[in-house]
Amino acid sequence: MLDYHIHTTYSPDGQMSMETVCERAIEAGLKEIAFTDHIDMDWPDPTIPPFDIKTLDQYFEDLNKIKEKYEGWLTIKKGIELGLQPHILEQCTSIIQSYPFDFVIASVHLVNGVDPYLGEYYSGRTKEEAYRLYYQEILDLIGSFNEFDVLGHLDYIKRYSPYPAEDDDHLLCSKLVDDIILTLVNKGKGLEVNTSGYRHTSNAPMPHMDIIRRYRQLGGNIITLGSDAHRPEHIAFEFDRAVNEIKKSGISHLTAFTGRVPEYVPII
Ligand SMILES: [Zn+2]
Ligand SMILES: [Zn+2]
Repeated sequence: MLDYHIHTTYSPDGQMSMETVCERAIEAGLKEIAFTDHIDMDWPDPTIPPFDIKTLDQYFEDLNKIKEKYEGWLTIKKGIELGLQPHILEQCTSIIQSYPFDFVIASVHLVNGVDPYLGEYYSGRTKEEAYRLYYQEILDLIGSFNEFDVLGHLDYIKRYSPYPAEDDDHLLCSKLVDDIILTLVNKGKGLEVNTSGYRHTSNAPMPHMDIIRRYRQLGGNIITLGSDAHRPEHIAFEFDRAVNEIKKSGISHLTAFTGRVPEYVPII
């Protein structure tokens, strides 16, 4: 089993050292993990420390040390969760091309500069308007950006949306979601199954399994599994349940990455 979405204290909201992650991952029976700390350049809240080049150099130094320490016990990949915004795409490209990443998650944490985590995003908007704007932003961003391997937590908005969760929320903007999926498929990019959704009121992975099925149906082949853990008890969170659902969708493999090259790992 592989957990391809884990945060350490390199992320402003992370609570684990790299060692803590590795120890817990081994305990949980994982064979491979990818560290995917946040780079969210030009974040609107100035109190959040920027992930600058100096930090990245240190990040890679620590990744190399930890890889060596756990060699033979745990396969460790050097990943990142890259927050996209329209005006920083060139910087994002240059950062990804300047470091030897194994794996890059592209995530959208801001819509027009506002985090859907904050109530103000929803003010004066219907549920459909709030969702439509979010999906449109994702579509525009992944349409003009290439330096990533999977799109992270599509459906992120449902994690914080103040509207009551409903079973068919994932159908709200299905045409836009289809366009997102087609863009990913045409670019040879993947979609992650993010199990942090099981920790929220929707009680479903992000994105909803119907979206994963649709991705597969439209020819997509790259699916990673990630817990989005920021604390030890969330590493490999509900992975048995997620893998069962993935299998039920007719998908027989997950994807690992080395040097940004995908490799298929059969689900047993
Ligand atoms: Zn994220
Ligand atoms: Zn994350």
